[in-house]
Amino acid sequence: MSLDALTTLRAEAEANLRAVDDLDSLTEWERSVFGPKGSLTLFLRSLGAAPAEERPALGRAANEVKNALTVEFETRKTALERVALASRLTEDAVDMTLPGRAPVVGVDHPISQTIRELSDIFSLLGFQTVFGPEVETGRYNFDLLNIPSDHPARDVWDTMIVDTPNSEIVLRTHTSPMQARVMEQTQPPVRVVVPGRTYRFEQQDASHEWAFHQLEGLAVDQHITMTDLKGTLREMARQLFGADRRIRFRCDFFPFVEPGVDFSIDCMICNGSGCRVCKQTGWLEMGGAGMVHPSVLEGVGYDSEKYTGFAFGLGIERIIIQRYGVNDIRAFAGNDLRFLKQFATVNV
Ligand SMILES: [Zn+2]
Repeated sequence: MSLDALTTLRAEAEANLRAVDDLDSLTEWERSVFGPKGSLTLFLRSLGAAPAEERPALGRAANEVKNALTVEFETRKTALERVALASRLTEDAVDMTLPGRAPVVGVDHPISQTIRELSDIFSLLGFQTVFGPEVETGRYNFDLLNIPSDHPARDVWDTMIVDTPNSEIVLRTHTSPMQARVMEQTQPPVRVVVPGRTYRFEQQDASHEWAFHQLEGLAVDQHITMTDLKGTLREMARQLFGADRRIRFRCDFFPFVEPGVDFSIDCMICNGSGCRVCKQTGWLEMGGAGMVHPSVLEGVGYDSEKYTGFAFGLGIERIIIQRYGVNDIRAFAGNDLRFLKQFATVNV
């Protein structure tokens, strides 16, 4: 414990400080001098053991050393912080002259686009758009649509069963269950279209998907005839595919209509003369339709002597396939941007 020792301590501390070249080692240096076991701390603590007559002078000298080292430490710290900041600014530098990255703008899926388009067309014809549950009971999916329990469509190979076969909770196999749901809740006149996803237990290939979209149409009122059905579908075809379109009806069977038809439009690619898209037939099949079966009307409590109606179902994917010549229905569920971007109505 002497002035000489203090001088040595200071010289060593200053030499070490000069060797410090970053903030981490500066913190290390601070601990080695001012920390609980630091050289200066230990020196000050030992002053109590010094002879009483030397103590004041040693104490004064030690304080001077402490003040001096503190100033040198702060000076060094400021300098090192400035260096660290400068290097960080260089690393994080932004080149303001680089062109910006354009944000990716999403667009509606072609199925959504087509549903909206159909909904607009039918709203002009007086139809309201409604949506229904995709998980249905056998009662709505089959019973109320005049599909008896021995009908092949109720076979498990067509229908996706959600719950045990006995309770008949199914993924709806068509949008038609909403016919009964709408009629149960309202009295005629009824004019609704029901777009939505439907499910079938099917092997997937280029023209079959286990999940696909339909648009159901239903009109019930007094004096509704087949002519109204034909006029409605013809107008839809003209709005969707152009004013020159012709429409063809052929007899078909669906349990919930009587009489039933399938309907086609003349091919807009070849104008009916035959091409690859229409498989040389000149016609493109659009869906099924017919006059609502009296049993369906009676099933929801309507008087089938007083009211008549028509119903139809369109395949949404089929419309897009025929309109744009898409050759694989699986493309719609694939979410492949190379496919979907082709339907963008704005630049992406
Ligand atoms: Zn054609």
